[in-house]
Amino acid sequence: MISVTNLVINRDQSIRQCLETLDQTGMSILLLIDENGSLLRTITDGDMRRLILAGASLDDDLFGLSDKAPVCISLNMVDDEVLALMDMHEINQLPQVNENNQPIGLHLRHMLRPRVQLSIPHMGEQELIYVKEAFDTNWIAPLGPNVDAFESEVAEYVGSKHAAAVSSGTAAIHLALRLLGVGPGDSVICSSFTFVASANPILYQGATPVFIDSEPATWNMSPVALEKAIISCVSKGRKPKAILPVHLYGQSADMDAIMEISEKFDIPVIEDAAESLGGLYKGRHTGTFGKFGIFSFNGNKIITTSGGGMLVSDDVELIEKARFLSTQARDPAPYYEHTEVGYNYRMSNVLAGIGRGQLKVLDDRVQARRDVFERYRNGLKEFECLEWMPEPSDDISNRWLTAVSIKPGYGVDVPSIIKALSDENIEARHLWKPMHRQPLFSGCVYFPHSVELSLSDYLFETGMCLPSGSNMSVSQQQRVIDELSKLLNKGRHG
Ligand SMILES: *Cc1c(COP(=O)(O)O)cnc(C)c1O
Repeated sequence: MISVTNLVINRDQSIRQCLETLDQTGMSILLLIDENGSLLRTITDGDMRRLILAGASLDDDLFGLSDKAPVCISLNMVDDEVLALMDMHEINQLPQVNENNQPIGLHLRHMLRPRVQLSIPHMGEQELIYVKEAFDTNWIAPLGPNVDAFESEVAEYVGSKHAAAVSSGTAAIHLALRLLGVGPGDSVICSSFTFVASANPILYQGATPVFIDSEPATWNMSPVALEKAIISCVSKGRKPKAILPVHLYGQSADMDAIMEISEKFDIPVIEDAAESLGGLYKGRHTGTFGKFGIFSFNGNKIITTSGGGMLVSDDVELIEKARFLSTQARDPAPYYEHTEVGYNYRMSNVLAGIGRGQLKVLDDRVQARRDVFERYRNGLKEFECLEWMPEPSDDISNRWLTAVSIKPGYGVDVPSIIKALSDENIEARHLWKPMHRQPLFSGCVYFPHSVELSLSDYLFETGMCLPSGSNMSVSQQQRVIDELSKLLNKGRHG
């Protein structure tokens, strides 16, 4: 914002003075105020030109100007709102006024910094074509050709035999648990380092989660802690009904080790691949190792349908049952007959159209997010305190969000960095707060990676995610890197 002291002018002043002020300040706009200092209108070169062409002389005052209430910025508007207002009125400068309508500053477009967000939707070119098709054929109702096509396209993309499109990733997890017969009193093993949506459906079924820590190699479910947990549950006569590992921030968990334990104890796996669509474990897509895999198309994910999810499995009967349960479990009868509890979980044909378009650009989005990660790592490589989320050499993470931890003892802590970035209009966030530390799950058992190390606790306390959208510009990312460098240097030098 620039100061208005040299830009205010009142009606007593002459056209000449007005033109001279414009000349001296090098600005293309002045602010006309009344005797109370309240803003009447803005004045431009063009306004002066029109007065003169209408017969005014250079020494005439400004009473010839009509009142023209200007578009103004109110006191508490943030840069993004100001930019939106400028876009709406197609102008590059706007005065800001206080509660008495007195100008307190002038905002210029090039000085504004839009918020750099963590992860926002990034549409391709074909989404609208599929959505339009749905409109043109009036397939607005749930189900329809886009849903069928989206299911088979996702199944083919990830290399799973079958898929059911549903209203959210959470719904997909819920259906998977239901299909495995998880019910009241059962135990389900779940990653602790995750978003609450992984574990909530366990509660929907009246079951109890048993939380497992992460391991250093992947920051995901520790196979060591997993085996310990199963042995402990079995010894108490409560063999877990399912294992729910999460592929956080796009990086796969160690699926060989987890599947080996799953087979050894004969407990099915549901992979929460909500964040890892497009990511590979040893060349194979995450979400295709367990009995079930789930994906999310929520607005912040790597591709989105604005809201949606997918349940995948090689078992056709289970997927068909999922479709049945997600459409109110209606029995095959000429009237509405029901013998089981069902849900309204199906994805709509309109949203599936968005998904089909998004799937076409998924590989580009993965590459873009991986590039974002590499630019951060490169741009900040001088800072030894940074520990980037690992990626085992056989895997390809989709790098949904760039996750980094700051080793303690370097004089910088994550909460103050997140706050300082936010003050610069940059959105960074804490890594997920582990489930075993959530009040919601206060009574649940937790198995750390080892006696010495609870990695999920460490990562929560020292880690953050940086803006990682695939549509973030290189210059926006440079802004983040520059701000972070400043903050980390401050820490380094006290
Ligand atoms: C987003 C997310 C979910 C839930 O997906 P929704 O589509 O938002 O219901 C589940 N698990 C993880 C790890 C997620 O990040």
